Amino acid sequence: MRPRKPGTVLIAGAGLAGARCAETLRAGGFEGRVILVGEEREVPYERPALSKEVLAGEREASALALRPPGFWDEAGIELVLRVRVERVRIAQRLAETSDGRILAWDSLVAATGARARRLASAGATPAGVRYLRTLEDAVTLRRELVPGARLAVVGSGFIGAEVASSARARGVDVALIGRGIAPFERILGGEVGRLLAERYRAHGVEVRLGVGVAGFHSRADGHVRAIVLDDGAEIACDAALVGVGTTLATEPLAGDGLTATDGSLPTDPCGRTGVPGVFACGDIASAWRPSLGLRLRFEHWTSAAGQAACVARTILGEECPYDDPPYFWSDQFGLRLQHVGFAESWARAEIEGEGNSFLVRYLDGDGRLLAGLAANRPREAAALRRELAAREALAA
Ligand SMILES: Cc1cc2nc3c(=O)[nH]c(=O)nc-3n(C[C@H](O)[C@H](O)[C@H](O)COP(=O)(O)OP(=O)(O)OC[C@H]3O[C@@H](n4cnc5c(N)ncnc54)[C@H](O)[C@@H]3O)c2cc1C
Repeated sequence: MRPRKPGTVLIAGAGLAGARCAETLRAGGFEGRVILVGEEREVPYERPALSKEVLAGEREASALALRPPGFWDEAGIELVLRVRVERVRIAQRLAETSDGRILAWDSLVAATGARARRLASAGATPAGVRYLRTLEDAVTLRRELVPGARLAVVGSGFIGAEVASSARARGVDVALIGRGIAPFERILGGEVGRLLAERYRAHGVEVRLGVGVAGFHSRADGHVRAIVLDDGAEIACDAALVGVGTTLATEPLAGDGLTATDGSLPTDPCGRTGVPGVFACGDIASAWRPSLGLRLRFEHWTSAAGQAACVARTILGEECPYDDPPYFWSDQFGLRLQHVGFAESWARAEIEGEGNSFLVRYLDGDGRLLAGLAANRPREAAALRRELAAREALAA
């Protein structure tokens, strides 16, 4: 029988990682208290749908819950919503919350994720300039997406591209502004980035690359009316969405010596931080990946879920390293993009297919697969995953 550690597990952050950790603890027979504290008002929900189905009007915001109503009570998980973990006192094993509670814990799981990075360089942002991280953000932005409205999207990363795609599907005029010379150039390479930019243009998006935002112009009522680019051009708009990355929500643990210089919480492959009894998983964790020989932080659904399950099993007494090949997907302009593996650089990228269906293999100098991208090719994506998993298992 697996040893069962009693006591209280306090999970800070009721997003995907927090929720998955809590339910895996119960599924694994954990008999102590599980307290899941989240600052949002919704029960844990599917964040990826926000920029896709929710904005495109294909899915109601109320249909995103990760688990059916009653699940958390039935599982004996104390779900505390609209409450922040304000401060953690590591030495005393206590946490202070925004509603004045002091919670004692035996194990603490930091799963507070990330927030949308604010656009600092452009001064004060007028009304109508939106960010997208939460369900509330998505509902607010969706109101702006009426046919014929003009949306300026700042940032040509995943959030920007997906919002642009959903907005076009609703008949919104979209301008997409990106600093890089091609979208996703760093992760997917210039050639694939240019393919994607062409696709956005073919879907009626005005794509402006290699430029940043210098500021905004507002109407008399204070609402945004144009974005000023740093090349002097102006883009008229009725609303703007800024998707320029994230900042990490590690405030409750700041000052405890747990955070790295990039603000993340470094962990071992099982999610343990350097402090006994303190774990981290999801977007805030930078975990050691044995097969890659690297410490990496991902902001992707699959690694958040996988790490969280491993943290739970580790608390249950198993040694459960998470070392699956990195994986993410993105839905944009009729493409399901699935990316597997990790490559900071590659010797060559082999592209097969075009338009609505293509496959890219990123290879090292010896022709070995480092990463792959499948566009509307789910079977090949699965094969890439298997190929990389087999290689990584060998390497580990
Ligand atoms: C719009 C959008 C679309 C996405 N699409 C994809 C996709 O297509 N594919 C993919 O692989 N990934 C996608 N992702 C990324 C994926 O959703 C994240 O990687 C995943 O949600 C990370 O889970 P998490 O639990 O670590 O963080 P989060 O989901 O951010 O959850 C953290 C929770 O903790 C709360 N919190 C923060 N601080 C505190 C505190 N002090 N006290 C209490 N609660 C706190 C936050 O409010 C939040 O509810 C998308 C993300 C967004 C925002």
